[in-house]
This record gives sequence, structure tokens and C-alpha cells, in this order.
Amino acid sequence: HHDYFTFDEILTFWAKERPDGPAFEQEGRVTSFAETDDLTKRLITLFRERGVGKGDRIAWLGKNADMYFLLYLAAARVGAVMVPIGWRLAPPEIAYILEDTGAKLLFAGAEFVETASRVAGDVPMKPQVIEAEAARREAAALPPATYEAPGPDEAVLQLYTSGTTGNPKGAVLSNRNLLGLRNPGNEAGLDWNYYEPGDCMLIAMPCAHIGGTGLMNIAVANGVRSLVQAEFTPVGVLEAIENGATHMFIVPAALQMVVQHPRAGETDFTHLRYLMYGAAPMPLELLKQAVRTMPGTKFLQAYGMTETSGTISILPPEDHSLEGNERMRSAGKAVPGAEIEVRGPDNSELPRGQIGEVCIKSPSNTAGYWKLPDATAKTIDPDGWLHTGDAGIMDEDGYVYIQDRIKDMIISGGENVYPAEVENAIFGHPAIAEVAVIGVPSAKWGEEVKACVVPKPGAEIEEAEVIAYARERIAAFKVPKSVDIIPEMPRNPSGKILRRQLRAPYWEGQERQVS
Ligand code: ATP
Ligand code: MG
Repeated sequence: HHDYFTFDEILTFWAKERPDGPAFEQEGRVTSFAETDDLTKRLITLFRERGVGKGDRIAWLGKNADMYFLLYLAAARVGAVMVPIGWRLAPPEIAYILEDTGAKLLFAGAEFVETASRVAGDVPMKPQVIEAEAARREAAALPPATYEAPGPDEAVLQLYTSGTTGNPKGAVLSNRNLLGLRNPGNEAGLDWNYYEPGDCMLIAMPCAHIGGTGLMNIAVANGVRSLVQAEFTPVGVLEAIENGATHMFIVPAALQMVVQHPRAGETDFTHLRYLMYGAAPMPLELLKQAVRTMPGTKFLQAYGMTETSGTISILPPEDHSLEGNERMRSAGKAVPGAEIEVRGPDNSELPRGQIGEVCIKSPSNTAGYWKLPDATAKTIDPDGWLHTGDAGIMDEDGYVYIQDRIKDMIISGGENVYPAEVENAIFGHPAIAEVAVIGVPSAKWGEEVKACVVPKPGAEIEEAEVIAYARERIAAFKVPKSVDIIPEMPRNPSGKILRRQLRAPYWEGQERQVS
């Protein structure tokens, strides 16, 4: 017995409660909860015919698709483990994940069948490749399965981390991890956790990221529609909002493209009740611009990670007022059911206001990384506290301020500099589209601060100007000593800046010390 629903129970529940309610919509195709319940049971038969059941891995290679979510839910019902693979990955990276997981089946979007077949042929398991729509047709002709649903702690999803700080790691996630914090009623009284039957969740972030698959989990748990977009485009988001999306999640880099799109000015945002953002540091200037663009929308910042099945803290709408609100820089407070502590090097909690490592205890924490016992032991301590690798501060009221990744912290002349703070200071410059800050070797300072800047289209900017702009806004030791003007920002498929890539040429042949 458990106090929340598993995926199997959720689907059974909503199929009874809202049989005709839409569960998925993509390009006009609507799949109701009754159809979702039925089709997932037939997909289980398809899995079984191909030799797949509880504990086996199946993979997905493709853009976001209603069929991906149906396959994932079918797998979750029977305790097979879905592994979504980012479609932007190169064939060797796809092969690595396939081999690492030992997936027996590889479902693919139509445009990825060729790549999938080529890569599948190269890995020892030689997974069968099945095109998504073919699977839908084939399953429709099969009988629904009777099956034994997995228990709360059995794995249903293996999600790879974004690979921002190193190689992606497969976080193994169970029913309890994915749903224990996310069921209706668990956060009773919190307005933003309450969904109306007609609500519509826009899924525009990639399904291989917790911001895509995790968002669908919330929608299905609450019996509302997931509006699935194959990939993020600013126009797609603006159109979805005009067509009735009520909730969405978006990363800062994508939000910037939406807000600065010429069509944003003419868009009617009234349907959009909640915009949730997170997954990377949010520049304050951009957030203010977004709030001004969508005055009727309530903003929520989410902080979390793949390993915590997504959101662990929320900065609620009331902390997004435009004037004199220091809290707007915060990632908010732990959601009910999760605990956050800022800890020192000896793994004990630090006094409020001191900077340390953000640590998390939550039923949503993964039990560990797939086949990486050392990384697991380093990340999750024996008491179940997960070490995020993020530096942060907690204030007296429990609000967490994420400073940056500990690995990216720059130690310059004995002072600690967090790149995100420097980026935030520079971001507001009118000629600058994107900025990343890194540490480069320095004979004098150990490391020194360097800014890498992408100018806005048509704009010009010089090193001295960037430095002068920063000097007016932050302490001298944080001001970049040098600036690279670059044409494009290296980002991973989750939209996160790859600082390690920017750093690499400066550290060739040298080991960079990280605390
Ligand atoms: P990898 O672990 O492979 O290096 P990653 O950490 O980017 O990649 P994710 O699990 O997608 O992979 O991202 C989690 C991280 O994203 C967090 O540890 C944190 O650094 C960052 N993050 C998430 N939400 C926020 C937020 N609201 N503000 C600042 N940073 C955030
Ligand atoms: Mg990480």
C-alpha cells in the first residue's frame, strides 16, 4: 500500500474518471485517457511478443511524439524501463547509451529509423528497430495484455543527465521517484499544483530531458492534456499559447528566444496561467523582461535535476513582483515532501547564509546511476542525501540561492567567483545576446575570469566595453580580465552552456583543480 498512484494506477484511474478527456494531442491528433489505457495494454502485448518484460530496457530515438509517451507509459505499466535518447546526439553517443543499457528494442520516429538501424547494427545486443507509427498500428491489432504491474520502487525510466559537466549518466527512476511528490493532492492548498479538467500542458522541451518527460508525468498524474510539440521553436510556443496552453516549462535559453521573438509583441498570453522555468541559471534581466511580456501569467522557478526526477524547489509566483524583490534571484523553497540542506565539506549542515553544497533528501531521488557504483557512492551518501554538485546559500526563510556548479567555480587570487553572477551582470548589456564566464589559467592569480560573449545580430562590442560594463556592477575581483567575442555559444541539447568546451583550449596540457 502506498499513498500515491503508480503509473499503472493513474492510467486506470483517469480512464474511468475521464475516459473521453484528452491525454495527448499532437498536430491535431488527440488520444483520450480511455484510448491511452487501451493502447498501452496492447503495447505491452507487443513488447511481450518481442521478448520484453519487467526489468528490460527499451529505448526511444526521436523528437517528442505522442507515441513516445504512450510507449513510455506502456513500459511503466509493466515495469520495463524506457530510455529516451536525445535525437541531437551523434551516432557514437547513441551507440554508447544503447550498449550501456542493453536495450532490446529501439523505437524510432520516422525520420530516425535509418540512423537507429545503422547504430543498432553496431552494438552487441542488436536491438530490433521499430518505427513509432508502425508500433501503434501493430499494437492496435493485438489483444490487450493482462500483466503484473511493478511495485513502487521498481524502475520505469532511465534518464541520462544532460552531460553539462561530463559524460551523461543514466539515472534510474522508479514509480515512487517520478510520482511520489507529483500526485494530485500531495501539495493541497498550493494553487500552482491544482489542475482544472480542461488544462493543457505544453511539452516543448525534449523528452530525453526531465523537463520534457517529467512534465508529461505531472500532466498525466493530474488527468490533463499534454500538448506535444516535436521540438522547441519560439513560434510553436507562441502559437500553442494562443491556442490554449495553460501550463508550460521552458529553459532560460528558450525563454529568451520566445520573449525576443518579433511575434511575442502581438501574442495573446491570457490562456497561459503558469510558466515554469529552470534547469539552468536564469538571468534576472531576462526574467524581468519575460514577466513584463506576459503580465497575466504566473511565473514559477523550478530547481532540480535528473537525479531528483525534476523539481525540488519552487520560487512561487508571489516572489516575481518586478519591484525591489531580491527573492527573484532565488530558486525558492523545497516543495512539500522534499528536504534541502546546504552542507559544508564535512557533510554537516551550514548555518543559514553560508555558501556550501546543495544537498537533497526526497522520495524523488534516484537510487543510483546505471552501472556507475563509484559515481553513485560519491553522489548519494549513506543517509540518502544526494549531493547536487551545486553551490548554494539558504536564507532564514528556507529560500535557496543557487550560485553555480561547484566544478565551474573560479578561484582567482584566493577569491571564489561564481560564473553565473558575472554572467548575470553582463547579460543586460544591449549589444550582448549571450554570455558565458569561465576560469582560465593565470600565472599571477591561479585562475582568472574570462567572459565569452556573443553579440546581438548586427551589433558590435569590444573587450574594453564589456569589462567596463561589468566593473560598474560587480566587485573588482569578479570582473573579467579578458573577453572573447565568439560567433555562437556551445550548448548541449538541453540548452545549457558547455563551459567545459569553452575552457578546453585554455587548459590544454594542464589539469584544472576543482574543489
Ligand atoms: P550533468 O549532470 O551530466 O553534468 P546536468 O547537471 O546539466 O548535466 P540535469 O540533470 O539536466 O543535467 O541538470 C541539473 C542541473 O541543472 C542542476 O544540478 C543545476 O546545476 C542546474 N539547474 C537546474 N535548475 C536550476 C535553476 N533553477 N537555477 C540554476 N541552475 C539550475
Ligand atoms: Mg548534473
